[in-house]
Amino acid sequence: MAQIEIIKEMLKLLPEKAVSEAAFEGANIVFYTKDKEFFQDSNGAIRGLVQEFKKRVELRADPSIMMELEAAEKVIREMVPAEAAVGVIRFDSQRSTVLIEAEKPGVAIGKQGELLRAIRGKTFWTPVVRRMPAIKSNLIENIRQVLFQHSDYRRKFLDKIGHRIYDGWQRGKKQEWVRITFLGAGRQVGRSCFLLQTPESRILIDCGVNVASDDPTEAFPILDCPEFNIQDLDAVVLSHAHIDHCGFLPYLFKYGYRGPVYCTEPTRDIAALLLLDYVKIMKGDNRTMIFDVDDVKEFVKHVVTLEFEEVTDITPDVRLTLYNSGHILGASMCHFNIGNGLHNYLYTADLKFGRTPLLDPAVCHFPRLETLMIEGTYGGKTNVLPPGKEQDEFLVATVMETVKRGGKVLMPVLGSGRAQDVMVLIENLVRTGQMPKVPVYVDGMVWDITAIHTAYPEFLNANIRKLIFHKDENPFLAEYFKHVGSAKERKEVLEDTGACVILATSGMMVGGPVVEYFKHLAENPLNTLIFSSYQAEGSLGHRILHGEREIVFRHGTRPEMIKVNMEVFRLEITDHSDRKQLMNFLYKLSPRPKKVLINHGEASRCLDLASSIHKQNKVETIAPRNLETVRLK
Ligand code: ZN
Repeated sequence: MAQIEIIKEMLKLLPEKAVSEAAFEGANIVFYTKDKEFFQDSNGAIRGLVQEFKKRVELRADPSIMMELEAAEKVIREMVPAEAAVGVIRFDSQRSTVLIEAEKPGVAIGKQGELLRAIRGKTFWTPVVRRMPAIKSNLIENIRQVLFQHSDYRRKFLDKIGHRIYDGWQRGKKQEWVRITFLGAGRQVGRSCFLLQTPESRILIDCGVNVASDDPTEAFPILDCPEFNIQDLDAVVLSHAHIDHCGFLPYLFKYGYRGPVYCTEPTRDIAALLLLDYVKIMKGDNRTMIFDVDDVKEFVKHVVTLEFEEVTDITPDVRLTLYNSGHILGASMCHFNIGNGLHNYLYTADLKFGRTPLLDPAVCHFPRLETLMIEGTYGGKTNVLPPGKEQDEFLVATVMETVKRGGKVLMPVLGSGRAQDVMVLIENLVRTGQMPKVPVYVDGMVWDITAIHTAYPEFLNANIRKLIFHKDENPFLAEYFKHVGSAKERKEVLEDTGACVILATSGMMVGGPVVEYFKHLAENPLNTLIFSSYQAEGSLGHRILHGEREIVFRHGTRPEMIKVNMEVFRLEITDHSDRKQLMNFLYKLSPRPKKVLINHGEASRCLDLASSIHKQNKVETIAPRNLETVRLK
């Protein structure tokens, strides 16, 4: 048994010989026991340990005292009321846990967890309940399957993380310092990637791709810089699932990284989906494969999920907490408590400091904070967007107008975020009788991501949660939302002569089914193209938005020219904060930071934001370029 310091200390407080084995699950400590009585009646002792050591501690049964699988499954199915609609039950013998999938997890958990405790007491298995998505999702099914299939590996992997955290300092205590190096997203949007270093820790924060660039020296994070060494990497922290934040992660696994990636559960699922799609796009375009499906699978195997505001050690001197950033489902701001309070660093990643149809605004109160790193996507003085409500009304008017004349509305979307906002907006309009029912075609990946939203409603804002939990009215389940899953179905949508709305990826029209729809719909003036997300320079979306009306596509050597006769609009709406919201966030932020770094914005916007924050808040501001390192402490 691993007899390292913290476990030795804990064992002193437990009855002698009660514990047969101890293991880490990341920063959490799990004890196993063969003593039935101690197992049933250990609550006080374990709670004492949690209070004393401020760590998560769990007691599980040794396999020798657990009920047999078949009998246990039967007991569980009998004990959980039918109303919970239990689906798959998976036993993880390696960890003495049982995963129960249910349509209504609350019912399966019982009041204050009483049903779970009863199952535990009777079967000696430790139950965990997961929500089954209301829209069936093969992807979620596959991810849960991959984790389950590799539970033996996962157990060892999680134990290894614990050892890295608790075995003491590896690199030797030296003078304390904290520094951050920009490997991407310095004065640009795309390829977000930062290396956080302390004398003891090497942590990579995000690892994205600039999809608007074909040039490998511009598209990928600069990992060949002297600061970065993949062998030294202790952990990766992923803020959210957009490709410009996670698109290069599987590459790390391709080149041998086998450490943890910390993120929320929805981020893991959406990232896996977008990464698999990215592999498909690379294959389809005959591009150099920077990674393959197997590397995405390795990524999934190494994710350690965190809830919002769950504090966890990730190395001997860094503690991580994720907070809601209001940007897309599961998107987080990452708070690092470094050197036991020596320095507190908050990376907001992409944040929305305002209510959206789906999410609550970004959190702005933190226990401690010295350095803030904030995005500057809409950081320029003139990047003030009209109120969201006005834009929603404009969207409605435009959709209605197009529908009335029998046209089709095409919306390029990122897959996650605006697509689901638009679905919720349309559902609300139809439900309240403001808009006639027209089919809303939700193409491939957008549909899958919507399904992920139905698996994690606890990450949505209070309004939607109320609709789903109390009224049983899940807006995503409206019958006129239609899934388009294949080229054949896509063709049927295009051949259908009636009015409709089509939501398809990619958001900047660089690849994805939206390009196919566009080619068919562009020449008809009855149709409408509505942009709703950021269009990076060089992307097809950016070109159309800036007036190009003759687009040439290449099929091998044969060019095809498409005339853009459809109406083109842009919604001045975003899942990012506009200039006003950024400044407002700074104003409301507590405690006040001493230093502010700007990233993720065009150069002029980053510089403009840096200078305004400096003037308004009297703090040091910096907008580093790629490859620059800032010493935080
Ligand atoms: Zn994003």
